[in-house]
Amino acid sequence: MPRIKRKRAALPTLNYTRRGFRLKDGRLHLAGGIVLTVVWSRELPSDPTSVRVYRDSLGHWYASFVVAGETQPLRATDAVLGVDWGVRETATTTSDAHDLPHAQHGKTAAQKLARYQRMMARRKPAKGQPASRGYRQARAQAAKVYKKVARQRQDTARKWAKRVVRDHDAIAVEDFRPRFLSKTTMIRKAADAAIGATKRALIEMGRKHGRDIRLVHPAHTTMDCATCGARTKHALPLAERTYTCTACGAISPRDKNSARVMLVRAGLDPAGAEGVGPAGPLVREAA
Ligand SMILES: [Zn+2]
Repeated sequence: MPRIKRKRAALPTLNYTRRGFRLKDGRLHLAGGIVLTVVWSRELPSDPTSVRVYRDSLGHWYASFVVAGETQPLRATDAVLGVDWGVRETATTTSDAHDLPHAQHGKTAAQKLARYQRMMARRKPAKGQPASRGYRQARAQAAKVYKKVARQRQDTARKWAKRVVRDHDAIAVEDFRPRFLSKTTMIRKAADAAIGATKRALIEMGRKHGRDIRLVHPAHTTMDCATCGARTKHALPLAERTYTCTACGAISPRDKNSARVMLVRAGLDPAGAEGVGPAGPLVREAA
């Protein structure tokens, strides 16, 4: 169920459009005579049309500018890629050099997180009472751990996305929707979060560089044969790692089959996949 967003519980955020802010000598001037010294994470590519000043869960303030996007085209590679998301491997692709193993970022953090969450539970304020200092401290610590994991995930995702987008003209991706977020084990939740971050990074990177990213509906991708298109009667159990087609006899690793199904469904030619151009195994050594 969606949770109601309460104004007093929400983090502070301020929006300014063109008339409400001004940049001068690297400083941000806001309406009402407020001047902020900004630590720039990068140059602004063009004049911003608006800015959002907000505080995150760690108490850090950010200024986020809206600028007109510009595509930075990359040279054509004549290669295409199919991507299937999973638990063991965040991304299994039609090119062995572009598979992304699950980075396990949440693993060490999970223990710490559990500890702070226990502290929060112990120090939980009674209904209608303000939170104690101890509770607020534990909450801040938990938020910090959480944020760190999220940043590590994003970093891994962006690096992978950059490589994938550089090496392929068109990419067919499973349009994954988190299935396990509110249920089952920590492993599944972590895998879901990693897939979410990676998919976001890939779409963003594809748009930035003018590549063709096609989202494929995830239904039956584990049941179809990438070679002949036949569908098995039952979904493969998760433990079954090999796909064997009863119609044409094709045998392939389960996730590789799914990745190829993505290509076929997106209308891309599987002949453009595997070992073409810079996608070869040599690149993997250098990466
Ligand atoms: Zn087949």
